Amino acid sequence: MSLIVQKFGGSSVRDAQRIKGVAAIIAETYLGGNDVIVVLSAQGDTTDDLLAKAEEINDHPSKREMDMLLSAGEQVSVALCAMALESMGLPCVSLTAWQVGIHTNSVHREARIKNIDSERIRMELDQHRIVLVAGFQGIDRKGDITTLGRGGSDTSAVALAAAFRADLCQIYTDVDGIYTTDPRIVPNARKLKEISYDEMLELASQGAQVLHNRSVELAKKFRVDLEVLSSLERKPGTKVKEVTKVEKTNIAGVAKDVTLARVALVGLQHNPGVAFQVFDLLGKHGINVDIILQSIGREDTKDISFTIHRKDLEECEHILNEHKETLKFDHIETDSGIGKVSVVGVGLMNNCGVAAKMFEALYEAGINIQMINTSEIRVSVLLDEEDVNLAVRAIHAKFFDEV
Ligand code: ADP
Ligand code: ASP
Ligand code: MG
Repeated sequence: MSLIVQKFGGSSVRDAQRIKGVAAIIAETYLGGNDVIVVLSAQGDTTDDLLAKAEEINDHPSKREMDMLLSAGEQVSVALCAMALESMGLPCVSLTAWQVGIHTNSVHREARIKNIDSERIRMELDQHRIVLVAGFQGIDRKGDITTLGRGGSDTSAVALAAAFRADLCQIYTDVDGIYTTDPRIVPNARKLKEISYDEMLELASQGAQVLHNRSVELAKKFRVDLEVLSSLERKPGTKVKEVTKVEKTNIAGVAKDVTLARVALVGLQHNPGVAFQVFDLLGKHGINVDIILQSIGREDTKDISFTIHRKDLEECEHILNEHKETLKFDHIETDSGIGKVSVVGVGLMNNCGVAAKMFEALYEAGINIQMINTSEIRVSVLLDEEDVNLAVRAIHAKFFDEV
């Protein structure tokens, strides 16, 4: 007998018919003699709808109340799916994160799981019940509800798989696996049989929403056997694992991110410690900075440009302006119409030609690059948001279609 964790995303539980389809997959796994822990996301666009409802009421609601609101969607899904299983005569129980004991830190809307209590779930599994857990949510030390960041149900699933040493963690979604890029942008993207944790982590961190990046981090850390597959078609998906065969293309995939904003601090003094002051300040306010570029301006001043998440732009500008006297800059320029495109691959480490090939594709497509950033297994470029899809197609074609 194996223990299998199965996670179904929002589109997989969109309506009654889909929920019945999901229940059939769960039933098959359970009746095959396995213990099953199911993790569900909110139905369809529920989380976006809840965000819109909040906006109608308050422009700046507290993050605590937002978590109280946003976590509601997942509770609906697990209850409905449990009802579908009940109607099939299968023993099951749906649980919230509070009932399970999924403990997180108190960073509302971006909480990280610290540990998971085993008693309740273990007890239910011992009674041969299918356990359905509301994804995306946790509780902090005070007992307040937290959420794990958009797309966070993947992380709930992998964390449960790690905590219960599951034999397999299956992430069921609306595509039949992980592709070389988003198949909705590039229809001839190739499906990968397998991908390494490192490559998937980099792709997820660079915007490939098919897996929440923290879920891949946890899968790597706890060696969770992870698979991404379709909830609509029964066929093999993509395995995420430690080592994979490197294909001759050297790169695993292309990712895009259109959630960024660029901030430039213009006319900073060219003294030691200036960059430290700026980023220390932002760090203390929980604002994550991605690409940073410093350039020398005129008359012994310098400019520092960096990217942040778009949702943090207003707060970032406010904080920097509040400290204008101490930071001594001339003015701030911002741009929330930017996007980032990245190529990722472990084979990239020993291949300096990859960056050149990427830039050639952009040149041929007539696209201007604003900033460049690299890691051992990634090259990223910052572009105008309106060029992003064209850039993904051009770069993907250069690496995967040309021989
Ligand atoms: P779920 O609701 O099941 O969590 P998501 O919408 O979060 O599903 O993630 C699945 C989507 O991720 C796909 O519909 C696809 O458009 C997108 N995606 C982005 N990059 C990739 C990729 N490299 N491979 C597969 N899907 C990708
Ligand atoms: N429902 C949440 C979201 O839309 C979590 C998830 O889908 O994983 O972000
Ligand atoms: Mg998702």
